[in-house]
Amino acid sequence: MNKKDNNLTPMMEQYLKIKENHKEEILFFRLGDFYEMFLDDAVIASRELDIALTKRAGNSANSYPMCGVPYHVADSYISKLINKGYKVAICDQMEDPALAKGLVKRGVTKILTPGTFTDTNYLKRDENNYLLSAIINRNNIYISYADYSTGEVYTTFKTFFNFDDLTNFFTDECYRINPSEILINKQDDKKLNVFLTSSQFYINYIEDIFDGVDLSVEEESFINENIFKDLSTLKNEGKIDDYSSINVLLKYLIKTQKMSLNHLNSIIYYEDKNFLILDEHCKKNLELIKGINTDNRSESLLEILDSTKTAMGSRELKKWIEEPLVNKKQIEERFDILESFISDLMLLDSTGTLLKQIYDIERLSVKISNKSINPKEMVSLSNSLEYIEDIKELFSRSENKMINKLSYNLNSLEQIRSEINTIIVDDPPVIIDDNRFIKHGYSEELDELFEASEKGKQWILDLEEREKNRTGIKKLRVKYNKILGYFIEVTKANIEQVPSDYIRKQTLVGSERYFSIELKEMESRLLGSKDEALKLQMKIFNSLKAFLLSNLFSIQKTAKEIAKIDVLVSLSIVAKNNNYVRPTLNTEGVISIKDGRHPIVESKFTEELFVPNDTCMDMDKNLIHVITGPNMAGKSTYMRQVAIIIIMAQMGSFVPCKSANISIVDRIFTRIGASDNLARGDSTFMVEMKEVSNIIKNATKDSFLILDEVGRGTSTYDGLSIAWSIIEYIATAVKAKTLFATHYHELVNLSEKYDNVTNLTIAVEKKEDSIVFLRKIIEGFSNNSYGIEVAKLAGVNEYIVNRANELLTDMQNEEEMKINKNVLNNKTYKVEQKSIFDVKKDDFIKDVNAINVNEISPIQALNLLDQIIKKSKDLI
Ligand code: ADP
Repeated sequence: MNKKDNNLTPMMEQYLKIKENHKEEILFFRLGDFYEMFLDDAVIASRELDIALTKRAGNSANSYPMCGVPYHVADSYISKLINKGYKVAICDQMEDPALAKGLVKRGVTKILTPGTFTDTNYLKRDENNYLLSAIINRNNIYISYADYSTGEVYTTFKTFFNFDDLTNFFTDECYRINPSEILINKQDDKKLNVFLTSSQFYINYIEDIFDGVDLSVEEESFINENIFKDLSTLKNEGKIDDYSSINVLLKYLIKTQKMSLNHLNSIIYYEDKNFLILDEHCKKNLELIKGINTDNRSESLLEILDSTKTAMGSRELKKWIEEPLVNKKQIEERFDILESFISDLMLLDSTGTLLKQIYDIERLSVKISNKSINPKEMVSLSNSLEYIEDIKELFSRSENKMINKLSYNLNSLEQIRSEINTIIVDDPPVIIDDNRFIKHGYSEELDELFEASEKGKQWILDLEEREKNRTGIKKLRVKYNKILGYFIEVTKANIEQVPSDYIRKQTLVGSERYFSIELKEMESRLLGSKDEALKLQMKIFNSLKAFLLSNLFSIQKTAKEIAKIDVLVSLSIVAKNNNYVRPTLNTEGVISIKDGRHPIVESKFTEELFVPNDTCMDMDKNLIHVITGPNMAGKSTYMRQVAIIIIMAQMGSFVPCKSANISIVDRIFTRIGASDNLARGDSTFMVEMKEVSNIIKNATKDSFLILDEVGRGTSTYDGLSIAWSIIEYIATAVKAKTLFATHYHELVNLSEKYDNVTNLTIAVEKKEDSIVFLRKIIEGFSNNSYGIEVAKLAGVNEYIVNRANELLTDMQNEEEMKINKNVLNNKTYKVEQKSIFDVKKDDFIKDVNAINVNEISPIQALNLLDQIIKKSKDLI
């Protein structure tokens, strides 16, 4: 269908004209009480939203697809589309349809995209919703990101020696920030493009959105003064220029929101050297935010540490975990506060109880900014401020200096509270309708208007009684409807008794409807005063909104302060409940932990006890620990535990151990397990080597490295040689503290060659043909991986276990474990054992016998039968 089609209805012409400027979005076109979608948009929306697709006949013979959703539930449909990666443009009626002459004016009032969506009903309460923009220009990168729902804006700029490092930085930032939407200029680097096209992120290209648009923001009236001030400072410092990511970010927000960005109040310039850098692998391997098995916050460090009471605190805690500090003084200040809370459990408890009552006032800021805050939310704000006042008072009464100090920064915004309290009723509505929500006594004029309308209403209510008596018509009724207004209804049977002053208005089958001059006069007085009362009510409400807007920054500051207190309280509660201790910090490179525990693994243990272990590392003899020992002994757990304790300490948390002295580290790198990274287009071994190369390149003597079975992804001698030379390189060149777990027992020889390499192993007790894990880390090494024993414990069948034992004995007999091809190819079994067929048959019988017919559904039974048939065919 095209715009010039002469047979189009005027409405459809209007639609197509608007749609032309919103090709990328699904256009929600307001028609009466519905948002309608047409043509391709309708086809997509009906499929994605599971709503009926209908056809609308045009003036011409052709018809076109359409579908629609009621406007008052549109939010839930919009959020569904956004979650599925679509953008939505909202086209509203720009004038009252009742007053419009001809076609109602319509225009797009908002564009909703994943990174700019602010509906708190559909955003995750404990996660920020970031929009990120990046401009990459040769080896320079500008990154900015903002959470439009809370008003935070960050920016940074970095230059790299080569594009590979820039790409690594960019991808790490993407994983750290985890934006819902990315804006980036088009790239011609293959590796970066693979990331952009195949990662899970929602990517927009700046050239597609702002083709030929001037990106300067100086003329933009939607941006507030403070942002302009920050922009000019950053520009003077050379951290941004006219074509920076921050301009793109602001332009995009203006383009989509189409309203003032009042609550974006400052731009925070950040540098990664201000916090402990944790890359994507590290966050994933150490399960800081998500459990590896669960892929959500359960079984993660975040879950363990999250005892926060407010949504703001929960979001803040996540930031603390992802961005631990490196400044000793700042970290110790957090420790001091935790210590103060833990020493006064009553205070801790009371603060927690008060925090629980506090609303997500940070996310209210966007509503204050765009003036969409409703009366109910205002009261929630005021109640929250009341609780904040209580917290402030509680803190100021404390005898503890650290707690007192917390109260100084807490502003409970007395004036805002009292304004809301004197103006808005205690239990106001969410939706503003014809009801009153301004308190009695606040405005005399308003009281009078409402009173007049109430009186009129009462007069009309009394009229029925009066007229019944006057006319003697028992069934006379005074009624109201939208079209007629108030009227008197008399059934046909009583028409004779109708007095002469009644004026007939409408005739129905069984009755007649009348009005009287007196009734109409009262009605217009009543409706008039109600109308005026509502107008005045809105005026008062709007000036209260304006007042809140003028105080927006103080509200945001208070929200931030509460988020911080909530995190500190949460860390104190968790430290106390889990027996964590305050670590000591040093800058001498010593990491000494007595009886350390893994906070996540220990939390899963209920009956068995988690075995604590010591750690003693320094820049000297204990720089690198080569850890050998069987699979499943606890090597990975131990290494992760050390890294997590360091992270916890640097984020200001107490740590799971008896005592700890932690040297502040600048980066933690982890290379754990074999994982394909298909999103980056690499094979397993390639990924492993890229990670190693990145670690070696970026680690400093202040970094902490975990390398778990590096070299395993290739053949034995290749792998061993690579692992060997990596340790040599770290020991002599990088000098970063390193835990290196390996099955290459040859590597234990490195400790003889290098003073700073020590061997550790995890104790096991060998019992006949089985082993018992003692989980205790000790100095020394193990020259046996007990792989076959572990395979047996894991339930690998008898044939494989016996045959492996046999091969192993053969191989061990060969000089230097060289694998003699004859062993694999020519020799027959020495041990008497079942044939492969017998083992398979036994397994099959075991499986069938294990089925409990009473416990399975018919469908499950059919599935099992299917499998049994397949397996039995295999045995023939
Ligand atoms: P490895 O890396 O040596 O193969 P893991 O670290 O994966 O072994 O540990 C295997 C399992 O052993 C863990 O899942 C955990 O249940 C248990 N485990 C590890 N360390 C301990 C410990 N210190 N105390 C108790 N159980 C532990």
